[in-house]
Amino acid sequence: MRKNLSRCFSLAFTVALISLMQIGCKSTEEATTQPEMAQVSTQPELAQVSPGALALCTSCGQFKGTAVCCQADQALCAACGLAKGSPGCCRIEKDSTQPVAVCLSCGHIKGDSMCCQPGQLRCDSCGLVKGSAGCCKIPASPQ
Ligand SMILES: [Zn+2]
Ligand SMILES: [Zn+2]
Ligand SMILES: [Zn+2]
Ligand SMILES: [Zn+2]
Repeated sequence: MRKNLSRCFSLAFTVALISLMQIGCKSTEEATTQPEMAQVSTQPELAQVSPGALALCTSCGQFKGTAVCCQADQALCAACGLAKGSPGCCRIEKDSTQPVAVCLSCGHIKGDSMCCQPGQLRCDSCGLVKGSAGCCKIPASPQ
């Protein structure tokens, strides 16, 4: 403690020679106080698998990380077991281990035979292919 103090004083003295005691022991103390590191967010984010594609959750059929994803109170589709009316409903395989995503250029499941095929009717409201998985279902602000 005493040693620290004297070192601090001598430092202050040195500094004082230059800056007339404007910086003293205080600045050394502050420098050793580590700022708390901002916690890295572990919240699920809308996963953009590849540019222009939005990941679908294969457990529920909704866009991954959205408020509705894996909500317990959703009506399930009798045919596919995914959330009824979700983008993935009857379009993707439930619990598939393959990542599934909706193409943001056309609205179809990315990479399927319909994806980005020319000559498809576009939806007036969203601009994606009418009736595609993503048609009018893309979350408002995908990150
Ligand atoms: Zn889900
Ligand atoms: Zn279904
Ligand atoms: Zn496409
Ligand atoms: Zn639409």
